[in-house]
Amino acid sequence: MTADLETVVIGGGVVGLAIAHALTVAGHEVWILERRGRIGSETSSRNSEVIHAGLYYPPGSLRARLCVQGKALLYGFCADNGVAFRRCGKLLVATRDDEIAKLREIAATAARNGVDDVIMLDAAGIRAREPELEAVSGLLSPSTGVVDSHGLMAALEGHVTSRGGHIVLDAAVSSVRRRTDGSLTLSTESAGETSTISARNVVNAAGLGACALAEHVDIVESYRPPTLYPAKGHYFSLTCRSPFTRHVYPMPQGAWLGVHLTLDVAGQAKFGPDLEWTDQISYDFDDADGARAAMFYREIRRYWPGLPDGALQQGYVGIRPKIYAEGKPAADFAIHGRTEHGIDRYVALYGIESPGLTASLAIGEYVAGMLPR
Ligand SMILES: Cc1cc2nc3c(=O)[nH]c(=O)nc-3n(C[C@H](O)[C@H](O)[C@H](O)COP(=O)(O)OP(=O)(O)OC[C@H]3O[C@@H](n4cnc5c(N)ncnc54)[C@H](O)[C@@H]3O)c2cc1C
Repeated sequence: MTADLETVVIGGGVVGLAIAHALTVAGHEVWILERRGRIGSETSSRNSEVIHAGLYYPPGSLRARLCVQGKALLYGFCADNGVAFRRCGKLLVATRDDEIAKLREIAATAARNGVDDVIMLDAAGIRAREPELEAVSGLLSPSTGVVDSHGLMAALEGHVTSRGGHIVLDAAVSSVRRRTDGSLTLSTESAGETSTISARNVVNAAGLGACALAEHVDIVESYRPPTLYPAKGHYFSLTCRSPFTRHVYPMPQGAWLGVHLTLDVAGQAKFGPDLEWTDQISYDFDDADGARAAMFYREIRRYWPGLPDGALQQGYVGIRPKIYAEGKPAADFAIHGRTEHGIDRYVALYGIESPGLTASLAIGEYVAGMLPR
C-alpha cells in the first residue's frame, strides 16, 4: 500500500506556510490543510508584526537560535520578494534606577545570543533619539524591525503553489493514525463531510489547535503531548500620530514584555498586548468597565508622560499558544520528532508563540531537516 500524498502540513499560519515553503524547496510535494476559509487568520494575523532581534530568550534555546537565524532569513526574504518591512529599531527602557541592572542582564543575554549590535544609552542618549520618551537608561536594538505579516504569508503561499504545493481551505484535520506500512492516515472534516487520506509525512503546525489535535494522533502509546495554556493579549491603537520612530518597550515583567509601543510598516502605533491567562479561545475585547484602558494609560505614561487623554482606541486581541501554566517558567518552542515520540515521519510543533513570526523561515528549514525525502 502506498500513501496518497507525500507530505501534509496541518495548519496554514505563517509557520505552516514557512514549513511548506522549505519542504517544497527540498523537493517534497506538499499539501497544506487549513481549517479556516483563509490562510493565516488566527495567531499569524493577530500579533505585533515585530521582527525580534533575539534579546531576551535563554541562550541555546530554540527560541533564541531560531529567532536570530529567522531574523536574518526574514530580512533577506522580504527584500527579495517585495514584502514590506522596516528595520526601525527598538528602545528597551528602564524608567527607574532599580531597573538598570536588569537592562544590563538583557544586554548580556543578547550578546550571548549573537545579537552584537545593541547599544546602552543614558537618559540624554535616549532623549536625543526620542525626545518624548522618559527613561533613565535604555538599550537600543538597531536590528529589531517590523514586517507586513499578510504580505509575508501571501509571498510564502505564492512560493508553495508555484513549486507544485497545494493549499486546501476549510479542511479541519480531526485525527492522525499510523498504518502498518508506516504511513499516516488523516481524517478531515470539510463542509460537514468526513474523509480520510494517507500521507507519508505529516507536520502538525496547527498553532492553538496543535495540542488538541495531538490528543487524536495515535502514533505511540507512551507519547504525551504538551498541554495548551492560552494567554490572551489585548491591543489598543493610538488615534494620533506617533511621536516615536522606533518600537518602545518597558522592562519585561516575568513572561510578559509589558505594555509596549510598536509601529506597523506605515509607522502607525499600537500598544500591547497585555497578558491574561484564560481557558477559552475567544477574540472578544474585554473591557466593559474601562479598567483595562486605565491600566494601559498608566503603564504607557511611565515612559511617555505626554500620552494625551482619549488617544487610545480598542484594537484587536491575539492569543498566545503557551504550553506552560501561569507562574511556571517560560517554555521553549517544542518541536517534536523521532526523539520525542519515536516516529520518523511525524513532526509536531507546540508553544510557537513569540518570536514565531520572526523565526518562521528558520523553523521551516529546521522542520524540513527533520523530514528527509
Ligand atoms: C499577541 C501576540 C503577539 C505576537 N507578536 C509577535 C511579534 O511581534 N513577533 C513575532 O515574531 N511573533 C509574534 N507572535 C507570535 C507569532 O504570531 C506566532 O508565533 C505565529 O503567528 C504562529 O504561527 P502558526 O502558524 O504556528 O500559528 P497560527 O497562525 O495560529 O496558524 C495555525 C493554523 O492552524 C489552523 N488549524 C488549527 N487546528 C487545525 C486543524 N485541526 N486542522 C486544520 N487546520 C488547523 C488554524 O486555523 C491556523 O490557521 C505573537 C503572538 C501573539 C499571540
